[in-house]
Amino acid sequence: MNPTCDPSLKSWIPVSADSDFPIQNLPFGVFCRRSGEVAVGVAIGDQVLDLAVLHGAGHFSGTPVATDNVFARPTLNDFLACGRAAGSAVRAVVSSLLAEGNATLRDDTTLRNQTLVPQSDVEMLLPTQVGNYVDFYSSKEHATNVGSMFRDPSNPLLPNWVHIPVGYNGRASSVIVSGVDVRRPMGQTKADDADAPTYGPCRLLDFELEVGFITGSGNELGAQIPTDRAADHIAGMVLLNDWSARDIQKWEYVPLGPFLGKTFATSISPWLVTLDALEPFRVPGPQQDPQPLPYLQFSGDWAYDMQLEVWLQAADMSEPVRLTKTNFRYMYWNMLQQLAHMTVNGTNVLPGDLYGSGTVSGPTEDSRGSMLEICWKGTKPLTLPNGQQRKFIADGDTVIMRGWCQGDGYRIGFGELRSTVLSASE
Ligand code: MN
Repeated sequence: MNPTCDPSLKSWIPVSADSDFPIQNLPFGVFCRRSGEVAVGVAIGDQVLDLAVLHGAGHFSGTPVATDNVFARPTLNDFLACGRAAGSAVRAVVSSLLAEGNATLRDDTTLRNQTLVPQSDVEMLLPTQVGNYVDFYSSKEHATNVGSMFRDPSNPLLPNWVHIPVGYNGRASSVIVSGVDVRRPMGQTKADDADAPTYGPCRLLDFELEVGFITGSGNELGAQIPTDRAADHIAGMVLLNDWSARDIQKWEYVPLGPFLGKTFATSISPWLVTLDALEPFRVPGPQQDPQPLPYLQFSGDWAYDMQLEVWLQAADMSEPVRLTKTNFRYMYWNMLQQLAHMTVNGTNVLPGDLYGSGTVSGPTEDSRGSMLEICWKGTKPLTLPNGQQRKFIADGDTVIMRGWCQGDGYRIGFGELRSTVLSASE
């Protein structure tokens, strides 16, 4: 086992058992102090550790980033471009500095005060400048639910689905971080019983519960990333809400797929949880039948036992209510297959690219990852604790996504992905 993942590790910084950020996690993010200074940091308990200051003090001298302070940047991109091994080396240094019994930082009052900031005193920024954003469609349960609703319940999957990790190119410029409001989009829709389309605010606004992976080092145009090298190109994961305007999507998506129904906003959580931290939670994925083509075959266990939840809080509710609870382990296609498929034609991946898993839906009715499925195309509205009904997301609603892998006495979590919906006219 990677020693940074040892469940018995403890930090000299107090971390509660239900914290998302124990010493076994150490996710990377970009934060802004109240002074306006921006740097790359690591979450530990309820604190942020400033890596730019640590770098200036010489603490990364033995790592691949020794000569370039890639942490004094407004994004993770330069750090991610150094590759997975550099990330692991930095993680090892941080783990050692924060470990119980290591006095180097703990007893250096000046450096400690410069490097540790309460999370409540910082604003988290978008972790990477996203050059490319792709969204897959890799949950068989989700694809089956959608196919049953809109096509044929007896034959819900299209013929390509079990042979290809289906995906589409999304819009990188509208990827936003947790805490940024989402404005209800305007657009063109057509009701089933109408003769002509109309223009107006989206009426069927939805979330999609997803997990995104972010790439480290990329590949040259014309080269491929095979499954047995894909993990070296993946830095880690974030929670992702693929906001969806179902009425706009329904009218526009044939024949070329999602367009304006998706491109108005995609929200992600701010902390990049590394593959190193998630390593102990790898589990076998679903049996793939038929066997995929050779370029999509892989070895090892590449599903993750990761619990995922969506909560909703309407404007007049004092606390959120849980809408769904599922697990990332159900995903049919894994990240290695997604990255290998995407680059099989030689397209190039950049450091900091974002790849969404597709809506994560589980096998039961209470584990569905979108309002479209939870309320079954609006036919089964749900009643909130405040008495209001929902079929889709209303103005003023806050959607909160949470995710974590549960260890023995600790959890590797993502923190919250929280977004509030503004009316189209606000
Ligand atoms: Mn999606």
